[in-house]
Amino acid sequence: MNKHHKNFDEAKFSARKDNHCGYTFCPLCSTKLIEKMRDGRLRMVCPRTECGFVFYQNPVPAAGGFIVQDDQVLLVKRAHPPRIGWWCFPAGFMEWGEHPSETAIREVKEETGLDIKLGPFFEVYSGDDDPRTKAILILYLANIIGGELHAADDALEVRFFSFDELPKNIAFKSHIQALADYNQRFRKRP
Ligand SMILES: [Zn+2]
Repeated sequence: MNKHHKNFDEAKFSARKDNHCGYTFCPLCSTKLIEKMRDGRLRMVCPRTECGFVFYQNPVPAAGGFIVQDDQVLLVKRAHPPRIGWWCFPAGFMEWGEHPSETAIREVKEETGLDIKLGPFFEVYSGDDDPRTKAILILYLANIIGGELHAADDALEVRFFSFDELPKNIAFKSHIQALADYNQRFRKRP
């Protein structure tokens, strides 16, 4: 655990998330923001009419790869907060200007060392249990086309799990739901 991790206060992040991210000053002109109804919601707005800044808080999209080989799914053990040591799909937040498919390919490479080819789009999930932000998770089914499996970047460990022996500590509800959905769609036979 590095210095940055010790400073991650999950409760504080969660509280801030639902309080306009804790923002108090206008990022354009530094005037103190005020809470005002805009489009049916309380938002932080800049009181200087000549500035006009409004803080629209939106969920942050993330994308990742749902990689299944021999009926086993590839998961990553988290090396960074939140939920260090918990398991999740190889996935991450989209960078500015990226298409979600590019994010998924980049994140899988960064965390697992694998090159993938995206298969069909799997599903999109809305997650509210990440203390940093509300997230939108875009998952693609994917096949491995190269690289070498090793834990890298944001991962302590990467490995395949049989669907019948999934780890108990999966980091986010949307990831648990995705595993259940896959099981329902592709594995359960009537
Ligand atoms: Zn302003």
